[in-house]
Amino acid sequence: MLTISDISVSFSGVKALDGVSFEAPSGRILGLIGPNGSGKSTLLNVVAGVIAPNRGRVLLDGAALPAGKPDAVAAMGVARTFQVPRLARRLTVIQNVITGVRSQPGENLATLLFAPAKARAAEREITARAFAMLDRLGLTHLANHAAGGLSGGQQKLLSIAMAIMADARTILLDEPAAGVNPVLIEQQVGLLKSLAAEGRTLILIEHNMEMVADLCDQVVVLDSGQIIAEGTPAEIRGDARVMRSYLGQAPA
Ligand code: ADP
Ligand code: MG
Repeated sequence: MLTISDISVSFSGVKALDGVSFEAPSGRILGLIGPNGSGKSTLLNVVAGVIAPNRGRVLLDGAALPAGKPDAVAAMGVARTFQVPRLARRLTVIQNVITGVRSQPGENLATLLFAPAKARAAEREITARAFAMLDRLGLTHLANHAAGGLSGGQQKLLSIAMAIMADARTILLDEPAAGVNPVLIEQQVGLLKSLAAEGRTLILIEHNMEMVADLCDQVVVLDSGQIIAEGTPAEIRGDARVMRSYLGQAPA
């Protein structure tokens, strides 16, 4: 379980987050919505350790995550995907999936020198896992294509695959369906459901309310850095304050 406790962040005096607290239970997908500039991405950056908050802390199963230390947070099994996926564009799809693995025993020099058979076995195991992952995503036919040549939707699936390969138990998703075609959204929805069913904790920033309603039983609504509503998708849809906060914004 992830606990967001009283998080505040200011950028040169402007409050991007102002005392935000909520809990994201394991085995569930928590929806995080709100108009542009409401602080959603900043909150994911705080959880991922990219931004150290001015106040508050984030707890993973009761233990505080190191603030402002993205590598240490990642090592604790927290992964984030980006609005624009960050992949090694020139490497192949399968190479990208393999680099998603945090510690590759084959890269340990001592193992290579003194236990080459063990290193090779570990490599084989990782490669097999990577191909199984591509299979799960329906991307097997693209294994040897450059990652940069994939469609936006395929790149997003690939970046989720890399988080799973890194054995992330907590996955933070920033608008994974934006610009993705309906077929690949369907596939992504199936994948996210299966990740939650495995007991992982997911936080999903998404403008596609249909997707949020399908995936999330709890939704947190941010506006100007504060939580203005919290509840089931149905409760959120009927909330006048939420409707007002979206007024004047192009429907996304
Ligand atoms: P959202 O993801 O909900 O669209 P953001 O978290 O990106 O919102 O932004 C929240 C607020 O913080 C906005 O006013 C934005 O301009 C500001 N902001 C975000 N990142 C930075 C930054 N690195 N430096 C200065 N201001 C920022
Ligand atoms: Mg954002």
